[in-house]
Amino acid sequence: MSAELPAVRTAQARVSARIGAIAESATLAVDAKAKALKAAGRPVIGFGAGEPDFPTPDYIVAAAIEAARQPKFHRYSPAAGLPELKAAIAAKTLRDSGYAVDPAQVLVTNGGKQAVYQSFATLLDPGDEVLVPTPFWTTYPEAIRLAGGVPVEVFAGPEQGYLVTVEQLEAATTERTKVLLFVSPSNPTGAVYSPEQTREIGQWAAAKGLWVITDEIYEHLTYDGVPFTSIATAVPELGDRVVILNGVAKTYAMTGWRVGWMVGPADVIKAATNLQSHATSNVSNISQMAALAAVAGPLTAVDEMKVAFDRRRKAMVAGLNAIEGIDCPTPHGAFYAYADVRGLLGKELGGIRPATSAELAALILDKVEVAVVPGEAFGPSGYIRLSYALGDADLAEGVARLQEFLGTAK
Ligand code: PMP
Repeated sequence: MSAELPAVRTAQARVSARIGAIAESATLAVDAKAKALKAAGRPVIGFGAGEPDFPTPDYIVAAAIEAARQPKFHRYSPAAGLPELKAAIAAKTLRDSGYAVDPAQVLVTNGGKQAVYQSFATLLDPGDEVLVPTPFWTTYPEAIRLAGGVPVEVFAGPEQGYLVTVEQLEAATTERTKVLLFVSPSNPTGAVYSPEQTREIGQWAAAKGLWVITDEIYEHLTYDGVPFTSIATAVPELGDRVVILNGVAKTYAMTGWRVGWMVGPADVIKAATNLQSHATSNVSNISQMAALAAVAGPLTAVDEMKVAFDRRRKAMVAGLNAIEGIDCPTPHGAFYAYADVRGLLGKELGGIRPATSAELAALILDKVEVAVVPGEAFGPSGYIRLSYALGDADLAEGVARLQEFLGTAK
């Protein structure tokens, strides 16, 4: 196979520039490293995972088993999703977001991730800009760039509760701005916009004629009585220029089942369906029937998980804030704490002076076998994300190791 390629072919890169520019998902990479160390017998505590540590509820698993026995589910089904699931998602969107849509406005995707990718691919032309409140979930900028768009980071630090303001959004807007990304509760910060903040931002976007892509995947995970607000419903002035992203992963402990969806105007959903019909076709029918049992069923499982997450959230935030050099605002949603570690950078720790949060995270994993995701995965250096979706005992052990290594002079 050493035959020489024609000169014109050798000049070409092996991997396209477009795909070659994509970074590995840092969150999945940290998680994979922690899981590999654990498999090798190391007592690693993983704060990297973005998934509930609970099993999927039994009645959902039973629906999948039942579906697997039916030959009709062994066949291709409509690319946009099973009609009964699309109807249930439309009903659920009205129940939880207060947003009335027709099943034809629903596209069932292979996890929320495919919904993210396809939404940007469907709305963006090359050079179109997307306002991305930062810290952002690591997948958004890659999906925007893959679609030819330009992510424009709008940074909000801990002193403003990781919540962007209209003034900041306004300052970042240009003639090329097409979309505002709105994520509340947020991954990675756990920040939740109040109903008033949501309305203010949505009304500003509507007045600017922007589209809003809103990721509601953590809608059922809020604490301290803080409400979830759907920008689609809170701001009727947006008209139909809204795309809602969601999925079963976080609410029903179903990350491995890979079911998400897009809800939006019929023409956008039709165009996205055309894309999906060539890319992946229908999502696994078995997973779709499991998702049907989930979204058409009760919210008792997530309410139970929430009790555990709430307890762990408080333990984690208190434990982190006891460390000198760490400032961790209390998150009101999702299952992440986003700690400001700028006070630790440059300090001598284990014989090294970490200059960035990436170096600090590597040092922590190396010295005390605790996996955290550095802020570089979500925007600027100087922060670490810790998931509190893990057992109470592991959480306590992990926080104790951090305290011992980093010091608790407070
Ligand atoms: N949106 C956000 C904000 C997320 O945190 C995640 C999962 N990390 C997703 C979407 C996608 O979830 P999935 O693809 O597992 O459905």
